[in-house]
Amino acid sequence: MAKMKSLACRECGKEYPTKDIHVCELCFGPLEVKYDYDEIKASISREKIEAGPKSLWRYIDLLPVEGQPTVGKYAGLTPLVRAHNLGAYLGIDELYIKNDCVNHPTLSFKDRVVAIALTRARELGFETVACASTGNLANSVAAHASSAGMKCYVFIPGDLEAAKVLGNLIYRPNVIEIEGTYDDVNRLCSEIAGERRWAFVNINVRPYYAEGSKTLAFETAEQLGWRAPDQVVVPMASGSLLTKIWKGLKEFEKLGLIDQVTTKVNGAQAEGCSPIATAYKNGRDFFKPVKPDTIAKSLAIGNPADGYYALKTVAESHGAMDSVTDDEVVEGIKLLAQTEGIFAETAGGVTIGVLRKLAKQGLIKKHDVTVAYITGNGLKTQEAVIDSVGRPIRIQPSLSHFTKKFELEEPA
Ligand SMILES: *Cc1c(COP(=O)(O)O)cnc(C)c1O
Repeated sequence: MAKMKSLACRECGKEYPTKDIHVCELCFGPLEVKYDYDEIKASISREKIEAGPKSLWRYIDLLPVEGQPTVGKYAGLTPLVRAHNLGAYLGIDELYIKNDCVNHPTLSFKDRVVAIALTRARELGFETVACASTGNLANSVAAHASSAGMKCYVFIPGDLEAAKVLGNLIYRPNVIEIEGTYDDVNRLCSEIAGERRWAFVNINVRPYYAEGSKTLAFETAEQLGWRAPDQVVVPMASGSLLTKIWKGLKEFEKLGLIDQVTTKVNGAQAEGCSPIATAYKNGRDFFKPVKPDTIAKSLAIGNPADGYYALKTVAESHGAMDSVTDDEVVEGIKLLAQTEGIFAETAGGVTIGVLRKLAKQGLIKKHDVTVAYITGNGLKTQEAVIDSVGRPIRIQPSLSHFTKKFELEEPA
């Protein structure tokens, strides 16, 4: 019953046992989980998935765990919202918002990857979990560790939004704020991971962690009535999520759960940290690291681990990449809120901003079935919009004050 076959190097293909390793010892390429698709195909079906748990664990046959889930049992299966209003505004007939603002338990897409990473970390015998985070990952690791009774260290850059800092402290993990950028945090964590037997979810157990992102593709296809969309728009930090949405769709195709996939995968970044989108625009297949300067802090990775593979995925799927300014991020957040009633964080503003650009440029067309991935909740990044939403209208608690203020006609 071993559906997870090995870890394989994405560069040279060398295979390794499914342990807590993440780089190839021959060529230093990143490792990725390989499955026995023949075996999975023999047992998987649409009906079986539909009868499964109301969480991402309905896709357990395609997830890198050996036993049953022990951490993050309720993550995933978030709404795929038909966005009629925003679609009409952008000229897209069939537009959907995959709404991970309401993921369980910490309101971002990171609840998916952490559910998988911690379940696997337990299987591998870890007692302490840790991460290098741009914010949401730390929140999710801290919450899951407390419910799982695991020891926890989360490392964050020194400039995070108040709600993302608080969203760690409340669970009482060890919160370490680094005087530096995410890339400094990540470098330090890699050094610590080399010395201690801790499960750094996005470092030494990254191959398992990253697979959790596939569930966004699985859910989308199932919720669309077992079909792949024509276009997806995906925010990029390390670029991992984008590559895994493609991998997930291709796995469903390979297993005969959906027809041939012709989805165009589009990547979105904020201009103040757009190493991947800039490489795309310059026609390069490699990127230059940058020093981030943007309000989209959750996406502020200047040296993205999967940037190269994100560029490859977009090329293979004939998608595109673009970036938006911080002002456009704020506009994107407001546009989504005011058309669909969904309050996204800055990463959502990036996605909507780029969706808008791609529609305007004709790269996404009227008849393209399109899915925009909204990966985090706006209540966590209030600083970004607080100065551009106005103030409440303040009055005395009397009927006359109210009528006067609004110059309403006297009721009949
Ligand atoms: C982490 C994160 C992403 C994307 O992360 P990748 O590193 O590209 O997989 C997107 N949106 C939000 C809100 C995130 O926190």
